[in-house]
Amino acid sequence: MSLDFLQDSVQFLKGVGPHRSHALAQSGILSVHDLLSYYPRRYLDRTSVTRIADVRAGSDPVTVIGTVVQTNVIPGRRTRRFEITLEDEPGRRIKCVWFQGVAWVSKSMELGHRLAVHGKPTKFGASVSFSHPEFDRLDEEGTTLDTGRIIALYPGTALLEQSGFTSRSFRKIIYSLIKERGTELKETLPQSVVQRLGLMDGRIARRAIHFPKSQSELDQAKNRLKFEELFFFQLMLASKRVDQTKIPGVVMPSGGALERRFLGDVLPFQLTGDQRKSLADIRSDLVSGVQMNRLLQGDVGSGKTVVAAISALIAIDSGFQVAFMAPTEILAEQHARSLSALFDPLGIQWALLTGSTSAADRKRLHEGLQSGMIKLIVGTHAIIQDKVEFQRLGLSIIDEQHRFGVLQRAELTEKGEQPHVLLMTATPIPRSLALTLYGDIDVSIIRELPPGRQPIKTKMVREKERDWVYARMQEVIDNGGQCYVVYPLVEESEKLDLKDAVSGHELISAQFPGVQVELVHGRMKSSEKEAVMARFISGQSSILVSTTVIEVGVDVPNATFMMIEHAERFGLSQLHQLRGRIGRGSKASTCILMAEFRQTEESRKRLRAMELTTDGFKISEFDMELRGIGDFFGTRQSGLPTFRIANLITDFTILDQARAAAFKLTEVDPGLTSPEHAEMKSYFQLFFERKGLRLSRIG
Ligand code: ADP
Ligand code: MG
Repeated sequence: MSLDFLQDSVQFLKGVGPHRSHALAQSGILSVHDLLSYYPRRYLDRTSVTRIADVRAGSDPVTVIGTVVQTNVIPGRRTRRFEITLEDEPGRRIKCVWFQGVAWVSKSMELGHRLAVHGKPTKFGASVSFSHPEFDRLDEEGTTLDTGRIIALYPGTALLEQSGFTSRSFRKIIYSLIKERGTELKETLPQSVVQRLGLMDGRIARRAIHFPKSQSELDQAKNRLKFEELFFFQLMLASKRVDQTKIPGVVMPSGGALERRFLGDVLPFQLTGDQRKSLADIRSDLVSGVQMNRLLQGDVGSGKTVVAAISALIAIDSGFQVAFMAPTEILAEQHARSLSALFDPLGIQWALLTGSTSAADRKRLHEGLQSGMIKLIVGTHAIIQDKVEFQRLGLSIIDEQHRFGVLQRAELTEKGEQPHVLLMTATPIPRSLALTLYGDIDVSIIRELPPGRQPIKTKMVREKERDWVYARMQEVIDNGGQCYVVYPLVEESEKLDLKDAVSGHELISAQFPGVQVELVHGRMKSSEKEAVMARFISGQSSILVSTTVIEVGVDVPNATFMMIEHAERFGLSQLHQLRGRIGRGSKASTCILMAEFRQTEESRKRLRAMELTTDGFKISEFDMELRGIGDFFGTRQSGLPTFRIANLITDFTILDQARAAAFKLTEVDPGLTSPEHAEMKSYFQLFFERKGLRLSRIG
């Protein structure tokens, strides 16, 4: 049985033994399956090997293959170094030098070894050499393993290297494993899927990924294994989704009295097409009898709040309470303000709960929620921490949901029976990522901005043009507008040599005599913060100097100018969020990115992207490319799985196929009960489902 074979411990494989199996286990390789899915990090293609005679200093990294003709440990005053000389054609030689890991490197190569060496050739004295190149020992020409044109190179870990485990060791054990027991491998995907999509057979792919006979065979093997990984991941989401649709939800029909009055008399504008579409999605969820789990994605300023407000009215009309949670106090307070404008005319009882709510207010609030007097609570995670009890919670709305941990989200949704859940995010997520992260929930997207918005002009500016910037700010203020000046840090840090918000406030105040300049930052008491924000919102102050506390959700349409100091120090999505504070009214807005002249290539790219587009989806796609998936969402806690072979940025076409195939299969055979899927089901359960969402990469 193939599954038994895949579960076999690597310990008993030829060429492993107890010592090595320990090192493998430490690197997460326990079973035959783990070993076979320990995919090469790179391949050495013999046709792209450079002759030593052709190596030039300063070129891109190259690979050379040669025989070790000299080795030397050279003692130095403080450190030793290890040098070898490689030769490929008679008299054609190149040196490789190691300053670190001398003991280990010098032990791993001897005179006469054939090595493949990969690195950037650099000038060293009069000659060209490699310093700290990657290296890999090859067998003698003509022996079994390394005679293929394309040779697999495996990711190493410190532990593996210490126990002498090299790429060559991997090739050896995997080679004999496949040679002796390869016939026990089975196809792991449904035959129908393999045929329909013309995928490479699973047995061939598992061999070819390690020992490809040609580049095209390798490409097909990669494609097939990526598909498989994404397919099983989507299958997991698909089955969660099936469970999800079994959770009953209370029925809340639209068109109640409050909602009608709101749409008729209170709402000061027409909803945009996308707002209406999103609302239609929500309405149909709320009457479906199944718990809603919907993510509302919309760029900053796209008008998510009013969609949430109308959803809340539908719930209140149906006799339920609503919890509206925001990640920061400033944002919770602002939601409270906008909701009060929308709801007070309707006579709806609502309350605000944050960390700074007084004990007396809290008590009243708890009672009001328990008795059902209070229909809507807006707040921070204090709503969870306070163990608030509701009379009848029917809808939980979570703003900027990516800032909350998955657990916090779960806690809020556990209050009440099965409240409907509306998640909102202003961090537009590229489609491929949304399908992965939120594959099991529904997504509505607001792409269209409210009418009359003027595009924001964004400009990268150097220190020497500061006076020009101040002159533009003066114009804005003279015309009755308001400005933000944003700093990355709160207090002066000599080390980073940053002008912080506090001294920036002094500087700006001196620069604009007679103008009301205020300061807000994270270390202020929240009552102070609120007072400052209130004065800025009402127009009493004209310039707000701040740290990134204004990042999310702050809405002052009259603010049309933003200067971001040290813009090169901010991440792209943060810059985008910050910029979203302006361009919210009908007047044209300007965003100035003050940047150091000297900056890294990456920060230059970020700022260029900011100048080029204001489309949050484009920005986030770009950001993901720049930073890679892992850093994009910042945390492992986000529940984002890492894949062994698939890459969410580049493999989105495969992801689409895999998703379609997985969801189709779940539709046709929901419990995977049909006999033709039995084998696949056990494989899926053993190697994917049981591991949960963590398909972590090894090493
Ligand atoms: P976000 O999606 O960032 O939360 P908001 O809900 O704060 O955006 O809305 C941004 C601004 O646009 C608010 O001032 C809001 O009143 C206004 N707005 C929302 N929808 C519309 C619309 N359909 N027409 C005109 N203005 C709108
Ligand atoms: Mg918002």
